[in-house]
Amino acid sequence: ARHYEVGGGLFSKPQVLRAVLRVDFNLYAGRTLAVVGESGCGKSTLARMVTMIEEPTSGELTLDGKPVIKPAWPELRTDVQIVFQDPYGSLNPRQRVGTILMEPLVINRPDISSADREARAREMLGLVGLRPEHFDRYPHMFSGGQRQRIAIARALMLDPKVLVLDEPVSALDVSIQSAVLNLLIDLQERLNLAYLFISHDLSVVRHVCDDIIVMYLGQAVETGPKEEVFASPRHPYTKALLSATP
Ligand code: ATP
Ligand code: MG
Repeated sequence: ARHYEVGGGLFSKPQVLRAVLRVDFNLYAGRTLAVVGESGCGKSTLARMVTMIEEPTSGELTLDGKPVIKPAWPELRTDVQIVFQDPYGSLNPRQRVGTILMEPLVINRPDISSADREARAREMLGLVGLRPEHFDRYPHMFSGGQRQRIAIARALMLDPKVLVLDEPVSALDVSIQSAVLNLLIDLQERLNLAYLFISHDLSVVRHVCDDIIVMYLGQAVETGPKEEVFASPRHPYTKALLSATP
């Protein structure tokens, strides 16, 4: 669960907003769990808790069966990585792609030599479909889809087990969305990654996921295998969502 304190200026008391409550799930290697739900229902808050960018007010997180323990969460920093919706916002415009890719290793794996770091960055660049000469360019020299590929390559640098993808194609032109989605599917197969895939777009979810959680007002109102949820939705919100999707 995650509670936020909101409001509370000079004349008003702060109020507690319950952003996420009782959302339980497991992620498995090679599988994709999609989280769907309308704007403000708590999807990104959930993503931030899974990556411990933000601490849950209560609840627990385990990795390979072991509880994830404060304060450093070293295993989370390497094993669980996140890709955000807006690849522009998450890439430093003053850094070259190579520097951006190598940074997670500089921070988390000082034991790895600079030559190995560069080799790894070049390998990841190729893996996401970018070219060797892109290594020395700056983020603004790329298209939105290419920038998202860079963000994905950076997320892979530490060889994670889990990728949290918070609306990874929502900011992209529809014409390139499927190319990035297919890249993600391909990477999952090759690297046996577990995905937590956040989206408000059911047609995207239908394409990529195995299981679904439907969130509504911070809570999980429906959970199950994709086929089941699509074929026989039980919660009124899920029914409304499905009937609104072509
Ligand atoms: P969207 O689809 O628009 O991205 P979301 O499902 O990702 O929405 P969240 O960003 O998780 O929704 O927000 C859930 C609720 O928590 C919203 O009401 C939001 O205003 C609130 N919220 C999120 N972050 C904070 C914060 N740091 N402080 C206070 N309230 C917050
Ligand atoms: Mg969000």
